[in-house]
Amino acid sequence: MTTGAAAFDGHAIAPETAAFLGQTHRLLINGAWVDGSGEMETLDPATGLVLTRFHTGGAAEVDRAVKAARAAFDGPWGRMTVAERTAQLHKLARVMDAHATLLTELDVIDNGMPRFIAGLTVANCVEMVDYYAGAVMRIEGTTTAPPRHITAETEALTYTLREPVGVAGQIVPWNVPLSTAILKLAPALAAGCTVVVKPSEETPLSALALGQIVLDAGLPAGVVNIINGVGAQAGQALAEHPGVDKISFTGSTATGRRIVQAALGNLKKVSLELGGKSPVVVMPDADLALAIPGVAMATFFLQGQNCMAGTRIFAHAAIHDELMEGLAAFAGGMTLGHGLDFATTQGPLVSAGHTDKVMGYIERAKAEGLTLVAGGERLERAGNFVKPTIFTGCDNTMPLMREEIFGPVMAVQKIETDDLDAIAALANDTPYGLSGSVWTRDLSTAHRIVKRIRAGHVSINCHGAVGTNVPFGGYGQSGWGREFGQEGLDAYLETKAVTARL
Ligand code: NAD
Repeated sequence: MTTGAAAFDGHAIAPETAAFLGQTHRLLINGAWVDGSGEMETLDPATGLVLTRFHTGGAAEVDRAVKAARAAFDGPWGRMTVAERTAQLHKLARVMDAHATLLTELDVIDNGMPRFIAGLTVANCVEMVDYYAGAVMRIEGTTTAPPRHITAETEALTYTLREPVGVAGQIVPWNVPLSTAILKLAPALAAGCTVVVKPSEETPLSALALGQIVLDAGLPAGVVNIINGVGAQAGQALAEHPGVDKISFTGSTATGRRIVQAALGNLKKVSLELGGKSPVVVMPDADLALAIPGVAMATFFLQGQNCMAGTRIFAHAAIHDELMEGLAAFAGGMTLGHGLDFATTQGPLVSAGHTDKVMGYIERAKAEGLTLVAGGERLERAGNFVKPTIFTGCDNTMPLMREEIFGPVMAVQKIETDDLDAIAALANDTPYGLSGSVWTRDLSTAHRIVKRIRAGHVSINCHGAVGTNVPFGGYGQSGWGREFGQEGLDAYLETKAVTARL
């Protein structure tokens, strides 16, 4: 990884990142950087220092962006051949790759995630753009038998066309800023849509860098527009806008409900990737050498700020104590620090306000007398650091087991039963249904539990094994629709059926 000669708060960063932080950050509308009606600052969560200021928009800027996206959809982007669109997306991937260090370091200092994780997510983003570039030429319809009343009179032909849904509004959270944006942008562009992206006001930076990359890659003006701003203004205006054909939202279940309400006006298509409280089942025969780090990272990956985090652990009594001992050692051995430090395995939480919310859950759990196995307190230094925390003695009725904390807090319930239906009933006792995992050496048991778990993504002897081509999304209140893979592309396509009398 390039670090160059520049520095940020004593940490080496690439000169390109330092130069980016020194710039004025505006809104991207119709291929140009323009002033917004407001301004905000974004902070380094590891120190509380101001990173940079950025322009924000509201209803007026969203309206201009939607009109630019419509003009591009009706104009140069809509007229492009599939070969040209494929080439444009591959070019976008190459330019992203050339700026991988910038994108990595911006997500590290804006979100707080460790450098090695940000680097992996940027590599995955480049892969995803290439993957959807490759999918453009595989957008295919079908042929089918023509309706009977036509064929009674004459020969006929019936086939389907897959067509872009139109202008897509894309609202993005802060927990994996670049990835959650690319997961929407890449399939939308591949389908032939144009987009207005609303990044999270907590982490606006990597999307702004992406905006410049889009321009450098030569995409026509208006194909990608980026409007930063607070959710209740810019996000709400985008979800309500009658010129938007589809809204794709990733964020909390509470905001997801508001998006659905806002989309009612023109009945725009809606995709939702929402919250989770994913179960992790550890059976008596689990390979604990594998399960201990795997279960720990199911919770602590991204400081627990991870929609698919496995934070409800159902540990069989036969292995409970050994598992707790191993998890405590793992949690205690994590290196907390600034995400830019190469040694860091756990960074800060995204904001001071979010840290207070997470600590509130921890304090209540302590007050309720739950057994603290690890952590349970802030780190004594500047920034939003919470030690990896594990409580056992929980049961499924407690807020710690039911609510999405979105922090490094694991809740463990000891189970005595071997009955798979009873275990699945515990795992499924949640309004969510995003992810889950089961840890056992017995593959028959594993598949039988997987079949019983109501979630969009379930792993065996690993957790949250998402991949570019693997569909991901929620059952229950974890969302509507799927991202990644072919289903991620389908979300931006309409089907037109055509019948021709011959
Ligand atoms: P959030 O709901 O607070 O915000 C998400 C986005 O919505 C932000 O851009 C925000 O500005 C915007 N927003 C807020 N209010 C809005 C409104 N009234 N109208 C339109 N937009 C509005 O979520 P967050 O705190 O940024 O992210 C954390 C949540 O995201 C967690 O619940 C997590 O589980 C979820 N998440 C889900 C997935 C998934 O794939 N299922 C992935 C990542 C995060």
